[in-house]
Amino acid sequence: MALEFCSLSSGSSGNCYYLGNGFHGILIDAGISGAAIRKALKNLGVSMQTIMGVLITHNHSDHVRGLYPLTVKNHLPAFTSHKVWESLGYVKDKISSDCIREIGLQQKFHLAGFTIEAFPVSHDAPETIGFHICSGDKKITIATDLGHICQTAAPYIKAANLLVIESNYDEEMLVNGKYPYFLKERVRSDHGHLGNHQTSAFLAENMSEHLSHICLAHLSQNNNSPEKAMDTLRKSFLEKGIALNGKPQIMVLNRNMPSEMIKVNL
Ligand SMILES: [Zn+2]
Ligand SMILES: [Zn+2]
Repeated sequence: MALEFCSLSSGSSGNCYYLGNGFHGILIDAGISGAAIRKALKNLGVSMQTIMGVLITHNHSDHVRGLYPLTVKNHLPAFTSHKVWESLGYVKDKISSDCIREIGLQQKFHLAGFTIEAFPVSHDAPETIGFHICSGDKKITIATDLGHICQTAAPYIKAANLLVIESNYDEEMLVNGKYPYFLKERVRSDHGHLGNHQTSAFLAENMSEHLSHICLAHLSQNNNSPEKAMDTLRKSFLEKGIALNGKPQIMVLNRNMPSEMIKVNL
């Protein structure tokens, strides 16, 4: 049996990730339309009937755009923290109460055969969380919007076999780019997004045998390119003397297209 992971969309125009275990599946974020999510899953051969819920990281529209439609049309329960639910405002008000599931931070819960733990990350929303998801002895960590890797988040990121981590911007492109100064500062701040250099340095510093897959996520359209993200990571690994011989497998997630289905053997 294998775990199956697929990014349906990753970036500031929408985030949605699928994780399945052969019997059931879950979604992480619903930042594209409900119709786009249903279509992408159908193309992957995943039945909507097997999806048991959606985990929500924070209230930014690129993570919740399709949430309400999924709860209405597919009656999917949605799981997030009390503070994230409160920050969802009118979106929460529209959602039927039996689809609203509140979870505690750093408290394990079970869904669709997975054991899941939410952990707080630093980002410019009232609250933002990452998810650490276990199935058998395999661990998946998803952290897509964070300005820096704090002490609380670091152990969850280090423990992953399959890691989905933000690599949002290239420092030089951001500094020299068209964004107004305040926006550049916001992106670079501890509550903004992780740049290629930050993600790469952390991964090279904390490289471990158990890390089998790295998915670089949430790339900026204006301030990054898949080549820059990948090159920065390669350079950081090289500087640490780490040879990349296909392990871990590294993939840059596409902003607008589903990734290939990644399989992790259990
Ligand atoms: Zn985002
Ligand atoms: Zn965000």
